[in-house]
Formats: sequence, structure tokens, C-alpha cells
Amino acid sequence: MSLLELENVHSYYGNIHALKGLSIHVDEAEIVSLIGGNGAGKSTTLQTISGLLKPVSGSIRFLGNENTGVAPQEIVARGVIHVPEGRRIFSSLTVEENLEMGAFTCRDPKLMKSNIDRVFALFPRLEERRKQVAGTLSGGEQQMLATGRALMANPRLMLLDEPSMGLAPVLVDSIFDTIKQLHAGGTTILLVEQNARMALMVAVRGYVLQTGVVFLSDTAENLRRNEMVRKAYMGET
Ligand code: ATP
Repeated sequence: MSLLELENVHSYYGNIHALKGLSIHVDEAEIVSLIGGNGAGKSTTLQTISGLLKPVSGSIRFLGNENTGVAPQEIVARGVIHVPEGRRIFSSLTVEENLEMGAFTCRDPKLMKSNIDRVFALFPRLEERRKQVAGTLSGGEQQMLATGRALMANPRLMLLDEPSMGLAPVLVDSIFDTIKQLHAGGTTILLVEQNARMALMVAVRGYVLQTGVVFLSDTAENLRRNEMVRKAYMGET
């Protein structure tokens, strides 16, 4: 049984048919990348999995349970944590307060403290800035905070939407290093990235989406070698 399974999912924004029968799965301990051009449906896929967008038909199973139509807060409680594009941190709260908000399902102060220590071990920069108001952090630091806040909920599955967007190249490397570290620590990750080259370096498998359906599905290694993928998504001529 896969950790996450989407079968023939159709999602709409009003009359825009964004997912047109999408079927994908993610197994425990994998990193799976979704790649594709602008408007292919990558972010919509994550929004549908996290319950922010209700699919019109199809099924989404997580740990064998039906998640279709379940409220977003219940999906979080089941262990699916979404780090949306654009970071969406609470900008008037401090770094520490943002992390505490990520643990809202946790009532145990000891677990909360050990999770904060884990985030600070992963991102020492955040520990130095624990009392700083989050809106004044740099873009890269805000990305670290958004990822750290997601970790506070002890995710079984992390949905990462464009974690490298807008970051300087040196920070892009460090975000991908962090993804590898999270994975080594046992977190399963579904990763959406425009940076297909990097995404397929860290992933085990990948899906190429085009206009709301899976166009190609293969191991990351095979996708990296695929001529169409190289030309369309890795900027090769
Ligand atoms: P990008 O890489 O450009 O972010 P994407 O693959 O993540 O693209 P989505 O954001 O999932 O693409 O968009 C899929 C389709 O749904 C697009 O045609 C887009 O215009 C449309 N769409 C996305 N969000 C909305 C919305 N809030 N309202 C209406 N249409 C939307």
C-alpha cells in the first residue's frame, strides 16, 4: 500500500478544469517530484491533497484512509503538511512564535521543545533570530521558517511547493541539502519545483504534468536522461 494515492482526480477553479484525471502515488520514505510547465497543475495537485481545494471526482487515500472531502485541519492532523508557494509565514509574529503555531496540534510542551530544538539544529540561522519578527527575515530565512514550521507538526508527508523560488543560487543549494536531510531523517516528501534539474537530483521518482494530467512517470534517473525532459524542463537545446 502506498502512503498517498490519488486516483483519477478532477479539480476545478470555477469552470477552469485544472486537474483532468490525475493519478499519482507516493510511497513511504520516498521523495517524489512533480515537474511541468507553468499552469500544468502542480500547485493545484498539492492544494487538492491538502484539502484546500475539493476535487469534483476521484479519490485521495492516505495511509489507506479516504482523505477526499476531509477538512484541511483534519488532513493536517492525519500528518499531511503543506508548505505553500510564497512561504506564508505570520509576518508580525517572531520566529519562535511562528514555530509554535506550527505545533498547534501538539499539547505536550516537552515534544514542542524537542521539535523546536530539531528545527534549530537544522536551521541554526533561525535560532540566532528566534526573537526577530518574521516579516523582517530575508527570503531564504523565511523559506527556512516555513519549512521549520511544517516540521513542528511531525509530518508523515510534506508537500513542498517551489521551495527554491526566488532564492539566490547559494541558498537554492542549501534548500535542496535540507530536503535531503529531512528525507534522511525519515520524512516522505512530495516536491513541486520549476528547477527540474535539482528536483530530479534529490528525488527517487518523478511525474511530468501537462495540462492537468500525468504525461510521463519514471524514476528520477530516467527522467534526467529523457531528451524531452532535458529540452523542455532543463533548458537544454
Ligand atoms: P506554475 O509553475 O506556473 O506555478 P502550476 O503547474 O503550479 O504552475 P497551477 O497553479 O496548479 O499550475 O495552475 C493550474 C491551472 O489552474 C492554471 O491554468 C491556472 O491558471 C489555474 N488556476 C490556478 N489557481 C487558480 C485560481 N485560484 N483561480 C482560477 N484558476 C486558477
